[in-house]
Amino acid sequence: MAEVSRHPYVTIHTCTEVESIEGEVGNFTVTLRKFPRYVDESACNGCGDCIAVCPVEVYNRFDAGVGVRKAIYKPHAQVVPDIVIKDAEHCIECGLCYDVCGLNAVKREDEEKIFSVNAASILITTGYTTFDACNKSQLGYLKREDVITSLELERMINASGPTGGKLRRLSDGTPPRSIIFIQCVGSRDMSIGRPACSCVCCMQAIKNAMLIKEKNPEIDVTICYMDIRAYGKGYEEYLERAKALGVRFLRGMPADVFADKNGLVLQVEDTETAEVMVLHPDLVVLSVGISPAVNTEKLAEKFGLPREDSGFIQPANDAVDTVATIRPGIYIAGTATAAKDIPDCVASAESAAMRAYIDTVRTRSD
Ligand SMILES: Cc1cc2nc3c(=O)[nH]c(=O)nc-3n(C[C@H](O)[C@H](O)[C@H](O)COP(=O)(O)OP(=O)(O)OC[C@H]3O[C@@H](n4cnc5c(N)ncnc54)[C@H](O)[C@@H]3O)c2cc1C
Ligand code: SF4
Ligand code: SF4
Ligand code: SF4
Repeated sequence: MAEVSRHPYVTIHTCTEVESIEGEVGNFTVTLRKFPRYVDESACNGCGDCIAVCPVEVYNRFDAGVGVRKAIYKPHAQVVPDIVIKDAEHCIECGLCYDVCGLNAVKREDEEKIFSVNAASILITTGYTTFDACNKSQLGYLKREDVITSLELERMINASGPTGGKLRRLSDGTPPRSIIFIQCVGSRDMSIGRPACSCVCCMQAIKNAMLIKEKNPEIDVTICYMDIRAYGKGYEEYLERAKALGVRFLRGMPADVFADKNGLVLQVEDTETAEVMVLHPDLVVLSVGISPAVNTEKLAEKFGLPREDSGFIQPANDAVDTVATIRPGIYIAGTATAAKDIPDCVASAESAAMRAYIDTVRTRSD
């Protein structure tokens, strides 16, 4: 992201969405809507003094709610450009940020801007969102504090995250002694009409289980699964490393997560031995599936593109050309079209970028 932001031929429009598009390959007019930042982008140097004085704390989406953010904030540590944004919805206009900013960069008033850009070709890379685990209410998400999602765990074990990389139970702040991952939450589940595999959650659960074990060998880590899908280069070897580190793989899916006076309780049948076990983990991590980004329906409509039954944007031909769409000059990459891990996203993005480049050269040889 930092490299792109420094590139002389790349302009990044942040806080901006596509309003509409007209035209055809070689000559698209794209109308953009830029939302107010309430901070002068050319003046702010990202020093963070305003963040330190702001008294308002709200839910931090980037930290998946594990931490809080201020009403004036940087969305995350590597944000591009490295400046702040003011959240007008939660700001109480106390005035402290205006006073502390020596560059007068914070604005009291700001408004949306509509403007157009011309493009020879377009790439859609609007990504995904995770399955809302509340839709599997029997697993206790948001009913029991120590049932968290894989995204919340990612933020918790990140050294620059809200807990400084320390694993903590949200119920009492103590470190967990035993953790159970439940796989395929919101994936491969016909009972909720989501038959697809989310492709990334087996490997990310193994990755996180290993990170936990490497730092805290004393923690008992179990992954409850249907099948482990370790399909990529080196992935099977990675799985074997996790087993060697002591991560336990239990083939069986708990149907419910209960709580008794001692904490969480779940019952699971090991389908390899037919043994039924009652487990008492300190922490349960739900490996939530990959869903289309929340805005996908509207976005597809604006671009005149069809969506699949799963809600993802449909490529022109799933068998042979997964980056072209039915509209010449408009390409799609990454998880906007299906669940993928980062290496697969990068490969599809490079392919789409090359196709867009060829269109540009072909239609604008001048
Ligand atoms: C818990 C968890 C752990 C994971 N761990 C790994 C891992 O270890 N290794 C790995 O390879 N993969 C991992 N993944 C998968 C990885 O997150 C995805 O493969 C990758 O982030 C997808 O990249 P993307 O660019 O397609 O989408 P995203 O990362 O979702 O990026 C999409 C971008 O588009 C922006 N956007 C959305 N809508 C609009 C719009 N309308 N206008 C403008 N911008 C918009 C978004 O703000 C976002 O910046 C993990 C996933 C999860 C859920
Ligand atoms: S708005 Fe001012 S105080 Fe806040 S980060 Fe920017 S320059 Fe620093
Ligand atoms: S004016 Fe708003 S953003 Fe600025 S410090 Fe006060 S509450 Fe925070
Ligand atoms: S990648 Fe693994 S956990 Fe994720 S849906 Fe597929 S089988 Fe289930």
